[in-house]
Amino acid sequence: MNRIHYFLPGVLLVVVSACVTTGVKPTAPPQQGIYLDHLNSQARGSADWFGDLDRERTKLKKTYKGTVAPELATYLEKDVYLVESDGIEAYHRKILDRLLTGWEGPRPEVSFIFESDENMNAYVDVYNQIHVSTGLLRSVENEDQLASVLAHEISHVLLKHNQQKSASKVIPWSIEMAGTLSVAAAGIAYNKDKKQKYADYAEKAVIGSQSLGMAWSDMLAPSWSRNYEREADRLGLDLLIRADYNYEQFYATIEKLHDASLRRSARQEYFMGMTVAALKGSKSKFYKGDPNDKKDKMLGDLKYLAASSFAALTFNKIAQANVEHDTREQRIDAIKTYLGEAYDGGDLPPEADVTSYKKVLRQGSASRILDADLAAIKTIKALNEKDVSTAKRQTKSLGWGFNGAVNSVGIAQSSYKTAVQRQPDSAIKTLRRLTQSEFAPAEAYVKLSDLYLQKRDPESAKQVLHQGINRIGRKYRFLPNLVSAHKMAGETKQAEDYVIECQEHNPERNMNLAQRALAGTKKSKGGYYSYCTKKLGYDVLARREQEARRQAQQRKANTPESVKKASEKLDKMLKGLFN
Ligand SMILES: [Zn+2]
Repeated sequence: MNRIHYFLPGVLLVVVSACVTTGVKPTAPPQQGIYLDHLNSQARGSADWFGDLDRERTKLKKTYKGTVAPELATYLEKDVYLVESDGIEAYHRKILDRLLTGWEGPRPEVSFIFESDENMNAYVDVYNQIHVSTGLLRSVENEDQLASVLAHEISHVLLKHNQQKSASKVIPWSIEMAGTLSVAAAGIAYNKDKKQKYADYAEKAVIGSQSLGMAWSDMLAPSWSRNYEREADRLGLDLLIRADYNYEQFYATIEKLHDASLRRSARQEYFMGMTVAALKGSKSKFYKGDPNDKKDKMLGDLKYLAASSFAALTFNKIAQANVEHDTREQRIDAIKTYLGEAYDGGDLPPEADVTSYKKVLRQGSASRILDADLAAIKTIKALNEKDVSTAKRQTKSLGWGFNGAVNSVGIAQSSYKTAVQRQPDSAIKTLRRLTQSEFAPAEAYVKLSDLYLQKRDPESAKQVLHQGINRIGRKYRFLPNLVSAHKMAGETKQAEDYVIECQEHNPERNMNLAQRALAGTKKSKGGYYSYCTKKLGYDVLARREQEARRQAQQRKANTPESVKKASEKLDKMLKGLFN
């Protein structure tokens, strides 16, 4: 009968995985002396200092089997927009090399990911990928400030913090959950037509959108323990000093990053507020049966409470994880104290290098890329907010040539052409250019296939969806459109099989949960399945069950009486045996 479906226990499933680092474990910083010297004495000649780096990658390879490295595919699938620039990358490598002059252990294997984000952000993930936001590249004022950020992040790698705890391990799906809730809630905020309200955010919540990638990456930045942060600050300072950088720029960088993290918390609060508003808006959906019946009302209250607490818990968990344990003053004080004790106050630092920084990031192609990216971010935001005039203004500075190398530009441009100019053919051209890049986000293939489907061209749609699958290596994001394409092509069996695959995506239950939490319903077959079913036009599992029942009945009717009796006898015998 009336069963209570809790959304709450999901949160409790959040598993903090234990640390299983192989290799040599670094010891805590010494009371006196220079941390880097202390660490070098342990890491020098230790070939397995970093342990088995491939372990995490191998795990991920089971899920992402495409041509793109799985550790990158996982970000592309979530629509994190990448910026590819040889110039920007080479500059980071050069700085990193210089920072490692003082390091005597084995060389860490590191890669860089440049992400479109108007905020200042940098973090290192469990695969030794240092993520640097384009906002950070636009905010720093000299090479020494950029070096300070990288010194801190590479210190987490040298100290192997990222092997012991990663955001993706600690909050494996509440991050995605929060991202989904955020997007769903934002969908309500942006949609002025009330009738369209649910259709809009439900769609966004299931298939994701450009803002999902941003919300996701916003919340993904791992937060280490207070001690880890202090260790990374100390070691970072050592690396800066040994590399002859102006270590005083470290303080300026901390100020900037701190402001960015305050803005991040403000955004999370906004998302939280939107989610609560969304839940309130759909509150009536939690109630079934007789509104005057005490029991029905109580059950509704309970379900509503569970959903709200679930949202609150998820956000709290993330807010907690993102809290900077030390205030910026405490952090700067701690670094200064360390400088005083280990370096006798330190020598006069060299001048900060503004020239090199300007040459690489403020002139030439890198600077054009960074400007175009900012215009793209603003265009996408304006389109989300249905602010056409701002979108129009921003598209003018998109820098049309960059859509292959800068994902955000291609997405902004094609979205503008589709939503404002209503020129699908031109949008198709843009998206085709964008998907020429191996590092296009999943969204690009999905949007392109949408446009082909609108043109009633299922073959091209299928082709582009499979291109996405071949690269990212997982069908998940592409399934709903595969259903539509095969249905349009008259290939019912394939379309049905893809719907069933939607049902099999249990790990993505967070998406379903988010939808259910917001809609206040509990559909037995889950959100993603329902979504794919809508594309097919009928519930294939229900139909197949019905067909199986009908066949079983027919078999029963066709079975001769004697055989039936014998089989009943056998049943009884077997039951007796096992009871
Ligand atoms: Zn850190």
